[in-house]
Amino acid sequence: MTPGGIEAKRALLLVAAIALSLHSGCSRGMESVHKESKIVMGTVVEITAAHRSEETARAAIREAMAELQRVDDLLSTYKEGSVARRINAGAAAAKIAVDEDTFRLLRDAVALSAASGGAFDVTIWPVSRLWDFDHGGKVPLPGEIENALPSVGYQKLVLDDGGMSVGFSAPGVGVDLGAIAKGWAVDRAIEKIVARGVGNAIVDAGGDLRIIGRRPGKDFWRIGIQHPREPGTLLATLELKDTAVVTSGDYERYFTAEGVRYHHILDPATGRPARGCQSVTVLAPTAAEADACATAAFVLGPSKGLDFLRSRPGVRGLIVDAAGELHWTDAEFARTASR
Ligand code: AMP
Ligand code: MG
Repeated sequence: MTPGGIEAKRALLLVAAIALSLHSGCSRGMESVHKESKIVMGTVVEITAAHRSEETARAAIREAMAELQRVDDLLSTYKEGSVARRINAGAAAAKIAVDEDTFRLLRDAVALSAASGGAFDVTIWPVSRLWDFDHGGKVPLPGEIENALPSVGYQKLVLDDGGMSVGFSAPGVGVDLGAIAKGWAVDRAIEKIVARGVGNAIVDAGGDLRIIGRRPGKDFWRIGIQHPREPGTLLATLELKDTAVVTSGDYERYFTAEGVRYHHILDPATGRPARGCQSVTVLAPTAAEADACATAAFVLGPSKGLDFLRSRPGVRGLIVDAAGELHWTDAEFARTASR
């Protein structure tokens, strides 16, 4: 090859390199991050979507917000006309037919109730309604919890695959989807975003979230975990891809009566607030699983809670015990979290 030929080849390579960097620079540079917040499900929901087209990103965010609202209306025991209310009003007398989505959720909820040995129990309603946390909370009257406890037990929820219907095997049974519904709603919202062709996004429902893809220009999304005793302070920061992150904390909903603090995560064995933890954060493939597992591990307490989380494939967790000590499911997870 002549010296001139080498020069020409060099020049060509240089042009190719510049073209390549311009191309990737362009596509990355044009993929901008769009964010919207709204109060849904009684919490501040923030949805972030990265896309080259702002219109596509905003349409995806709008659809995801609407989906969160739809699922909340469907599942909340406190909403007139919800399927949860319909089940609780009628399923002891006759089987109640439900839509496929609700049936799938109930099936998942029963499976998670069984897997956690009833620490998460989707039939906690007879007891949780007595504490009435959705209206500020109150201590039940003496004897009320003891009377209600025999009606709690996921085995009393009968699911009929063929007819997609739900029944209770005894009177007084009821479902409370509060410990899994938010995660489930976040998963449905993510589905809407993906269907719009957006591959990099976060649906954050008040700290319970799911992320897909990565932040443009980065290899991850950065996620903060709330400190259970210092509002506005982060306990840890994580760099994550394609996962759900859900926290159950005793600071989320509580009231104080005669100097005692009562919070909303109940031990189905006693019908009273579980006392072993301040918070539990769970990473899982779906937000519904992370949500139910966080509640379950909270009830189980630091030692059994870690064992339970470790038993589930693809699940990691951080438990803050009642004394404020941190317990991680694995050393690698602890190492990658910055504090
Ligand atoms: P989370 O904040 O996800 O831990 O869910 C707490 C909510 O789930 C409460 O407000 C109750 O409605 C319900 N709940 C409380 N304790 C339990 C439990 N042990 N199993 C299932 N649901 C529960
Ligand atoms: Mg939960």
